[in-house]
Amino acid sequence: MSADTNLDIAALDKAHALHPWTHFESFSRDGALVIERGDGCSLWDSDGREYLDAVGGLWCTNIGLGRREMADAIAAQAEKLAFCNTFVDMTNGPAALLSAKLAELAPGDLNHVHFTTGGSTAIDSAYRMVAYYQSCAGRTDKTHVIARNSSYHGSTFATISIGKRAGDKMPEFDYKTDGIHHISAPDCYRAISDRSEAEFCDDLVAEFEAKIEEVGPDKVGGFFAEPIQASGGVVVPPEGYLKRMAEVCRKHDILFIADEVVTGFGRLGHWFASWDEFGVQPDIICCAKGLSSGYQPIGATIFSDQIWDAMQGDRWYASGFTYAGHPVACAAALKNIEIIERENLLHHAAQVGRYFEERLSVLEALPLAGDVRGRKLMMCVESVADKVTKALLPDHLDVGKRISDAAEARGLMVRPMGHLNVMSPPLVITQSQVDFVAETLEHAIVEVTDQLV
Ligand code: PLP
Repeated sequence: MSADTNLDIAALDKAHALHPWTHFESFSRDGALVIERGDGCSLWDSDGREYLDAVGGLWCTNIGLGRREMADAIAAQAEKLAFCNTFVDMTNGPAALLSAKLAELAPGDLNHVHFTTGGSTAIDSAYRMVAYYQSCAGRTDKTHVIARNSSYHGSTFATISIGKRAGDKMPEFDYKTDGIHHISAPDCYRAISDRSEAEFCDDLVAEFEAKIEEVGPDKVGGFFAEPIQASGGVVVPPEGYLKRMAEVCRKHDILFIADEVVTGFGRLGHWFASWDEFGVQPDIICCAKGLSSGYQPIGATIFSDQIWDAMQGDRWYASGFTYAGHPVACAAALKNIEIIERENLLHHAAQVGRYFEERLSVLEALPLAGDVRGRKLMMCVESVADKVTKALLPDHLDVGKRISDAAEARGLMVRPMGHLNVMSPPLVITQSQVDFVAETLEHAIVEVTDQLV
């Protein structure tokens, strides 16, 4: 049997691979789509069919696929030094250069970097850093953290516990519940009811303050927030919300941890969205995905002078990963950042992102589209049975999957998540590709609407 025929790849995968977030019955029926090649925003499957990937891999292929320059940088580093651990007191050129570059790009005094292997391990590291820093600062009881409903912060034991998306918590798995608390998502579509946006914001901030009082201000050490909740449904917070949450954190010596795994590296037209989009100076930023545009697995926990200074002294920091500061991954991230700078992709993402918002907003006229929301290159369509009551269609209709299947048949990939269809295309997407996404998605939604009536 030859392992490089398309048929064999699908069959081998079906026989041996357990995919992340898979559904056993549908996987055993349908198997996996085998993707063979990528270039820019396009993917080709094993039958040679082309798709425009409006998912951007998984919120991550920011500079687009198929860049020779990236392949060359990765190959050159692999040849020169494929691995060097960064434990205790050893380092390598790409890791040191990348930490300096991230300190330059991150807002304020976020001048220190702890490298990880991806987004989950960056959040997991920040979670540990909360208790460690607070203890170093003499606040030994501040080990509890607060996060929001509808958040996704990763899939390690700690990070899946910090997140709280419907459907992520399986009864068969154990989760950490002590010391992790949740408050409402800033969901202007589902949770606002008859309040104004300003009243909704007041209530969310009041709920945060009440939760801190309930747990104890001397016990809460950190607050985790994605600037825009990504996998929880592209939830854009009300005006001023993040700033006011950060002020509450300051008042109580609570670290504000911005999960910029999705929003970092250009998705909203900035290196980081916390400061440039929302005017918030976090104590810690966690990033991954767009840091290397998916060319290599890498993440980073970027933290402040204040945390760094407090940690100094005769003590160990017993946390880290074999592949932290991996020279090949760091070389890929450096080249990725160089490309974003040279091609002015932040500016392009902001411009084309506004156009993306505008073109998709037209879909709101469709009877099935309850809400079209998001910002710039982070967008989503929420399907409903009734636009007035916002009632959802029954789960068994699997509306998001039906829409994404109909789009896929027309050469467009959009990500289904329950009744949502989510989009996060590469930053290099053009206006005419945006037109294709909007038109194709409209056709797909109309087709599914016709099937359902
Ligand atoms: N944080 C956010 C906001 C994410 O969207 C994700 C993944 O989608 C993660 C963390 C986890 O990142 P990774 O899958 O690289 O571990």
